[in-house]
Amino acid sequence: MVRLWMLCWLLVAVVSLRAEHSAADLAYAMSTRYAPYANWDSVVDVDVLARQRVERYWQTAEEIRSERKVDTRPLTGLHIALDPGHVGGRWAKYEGRDFVIEDSDYRVREGELVLEVAQRVRSQLLELGAEVTLLREGAEPINPKPPLAYLELAARQIARPKELNFETLLDYGYALRDRSIHLSVVTGEIAERARVVNEVIQPDAFISLHINAAPWPLGDAKPGEQAMALGRVKRLVKSNHVHVLVFGCMSRRELSSPRQQEQFVKKFLNGSAAMEHRLGRSLGEALIEASGLNASSYEGENAIRMDVEAPVMWARNLMLLRTVECPTVLLEPYVANSEAVYSRIQSALHARATGAKLPDNDILLEYTDAVVSGVRAVYE
Ligand SMILES: [Zn+2]
Repeated sequence: MVRLWMLCWLLVAVVSLRAEHSAADLAYAMSTRYAPYANWDSVVDVDVLARQRVERYWQTAEEIRSERKVDTRPLTGLHIALDPGHVGGRWAKYEGRDFVIEDSDYRVREGELVLEVAQRVRSQLLELGAEVTLLREGAEPINPKPPLAYLELAARQIARPKELNFETLLDYGYALRDRSIHLSVVTGEIAERARVVNEVIQPDAFISLHINAAPWPLGDAKPGEQAMALGRVKRLVKSNHVHVLVFGCMSRRELSSPRQQEQFVKKFLNGSAAMEHRLGRSLGEALIEASGLNASSYEGENAIRMDVEAPVMWARNLMLLRTVECPTVLLEPYVANSEAVYSRIQSALHARATGAKLPDNDILLEYTDAVVSGVRAVYE
């Protein structure tokens, strides 16, 4: 006959085992994903962390599925927020997301390309029964603070000219203007999007859509010219690849910042980690399959490949990834300034400008279908 004391002892053993297991899980995640280069164990105590509990506003795929009735549509119950990365339009040049090779080409603006992808993904996911919220619908920022509101901050960040004359003052004025715009439509915009996701939309998952670009290549050397003297030139590159990003890879300095540590702890403990891993892998593999491209590679210690079985997925400590509390994945398929992708984007923009029927291999349709199939594989 089982005695009460036996049961209680067993209960304590199981509970302690779970707690230990969870601290070990945390330690493993720290070493492989969150702070692999940071000697984290002198900054973070995983035993203390493992005992904390954090609230969450989002549901896991299992929770959504368990509430789904048999005769409903395949994604019923799922609420997804889609972020068309950047802004585009008149802001694109200040974002550094606006280029052409020939003057007569269609301008390549990342913010506008991914907005169309987000709108097309929304249509398909709505058909499948999901609720979908887009962070923006046009080429304007959602940050209510305009560039002028950042002028004082910009002035603290930019050195005043040493000599005062018309030219140096004009340059200083341009530098202040550009920095204020950047603070408003890039840094401030990302902070505002994260705030809106956490406080207003509160979706089950958040997907940020981008198209990657490579640094412009170095110019060709003329005879006798030193390589150091060469500037970057607007010439298409050969490399073309795809990757997706989830939160991780904090440096020791980042992990030591109280604010970043608080954000990290919240995200770590609310369970985003496991869902992000699944969604990131699924979206990354869908993009690889659709595009036929290889996974990108990072060099250096600002990113880590966290799963050997999913080389397409990298962990990085970007503000958006760190501050959004629900599972968040940022997509970086294609290299916009590669020979292959630039011509595909030009064809896509030409078809839209002339109202021609979109071909089956349209790059934005390919991107759209990959995102939809990556979401379905996790939540259907
Ligand atoms: Zn981007």
